[in-house]
Amino acid sequence: MAKTWYPVIDYVLCAECGSCVTKCSHGVYSKVKAPVPVVEKPEACVDHCHGCGNICPSGAITYLGEDTAWTPPHGKPVMPEAPCGCGCGTASASAAASTGGCACESAAAGTKTVAIDYLYLDLTSCERCIGTDQVLDEVVAAITPALKLAGYQVAYQKTEMATADIALQHRFQSSPTIRVNGRDIATAVAENHCGCCSAISNSDVDCRVFEYEGATYEVPPKQMLAEGILRAVFGSPADAQEQERFQLPDNLISFFNGKTQQKCACGGNCGE
Ligand code: SF4
Ligand code: SF4
Repeated sequence: MAKTWYPVIDYVLCAECGSCVTKCSHGVYSKVKAPVPVVEKPEACVDHCHGCGNICPSGAITYLGEDTAWTPPHGKPVMPEAPCGCGCGTASASAAASTGGCACESAAAGTKTVAIDYLYLDLTSCERCIGTDQVLDEVVAAITPALKLAGYQVAYQKTEMATADIALQHRFQSSPTIRVNGRDIATAVAENHCGCCSAISNSDVDCRVFEYEGATYEVPPKQMLAEGILRAVFGSPADAQEQERFQLPDNLISFFNGKTQQKCACGGNCGE
């Protein structure tokens, strides 16, 4: 088992068919949040297995630690010489692909899901990450009953951008970030100096500020988050995101480099 190898989901591309969750027999994905693919136990993923990525019809799965020439086949049958390696049934994947869909499309039938992702750098000492986390918790708790009433299930996930590799895989631009169904609820990235993350990394780091109704906040107000989430769910469909090559901003590279070099000056969150 490998902690340096696990699937990373591009929620912009994901069609929420749930095939990857059904495919994996190793408990990597949360069953509770299915059909939304939420990687719950990355440590259970089999090193260099591409089982779920091979059957994903959307090409939404890549792998942290990818060092092969593998590219997402968008659900098309994979060559026999490229088995998934985890024993969870390449043959059935091919059969599913040959029918033009996933093996478990029925899992998604009639289900509407709102995937809310909170991506952050630090929840031990960064005041704006902690503050935003608390406000988001309150907002998600408040709007979930209404979303359920409207027929949606809410999949709320928090992910620490613990390393530069993880940040790169998540196309992480600025901390903190809130995404709904893969899209950032903030329309632009604005940042100012963050004393907490600068202290963690012993470097000069900027973190996100949120602009709302003419004011700028380091911790967004509840109204802004509620409005952003509901707009993402009920607003006009956003334009297709261009899948251009993503590069980690220099600001975050400084953070991760500095954090790696720090020896516990952050109170135990140095990642070493
Ligand atoms: S199917 Fe294979 S690659 Fe996908 S999560 Fe399971 S073990 Fe990992
Ligand atoms: S198989 Fe692909 S499209 Fe289907 S839920 Fe998994 S990531 Fe999304």
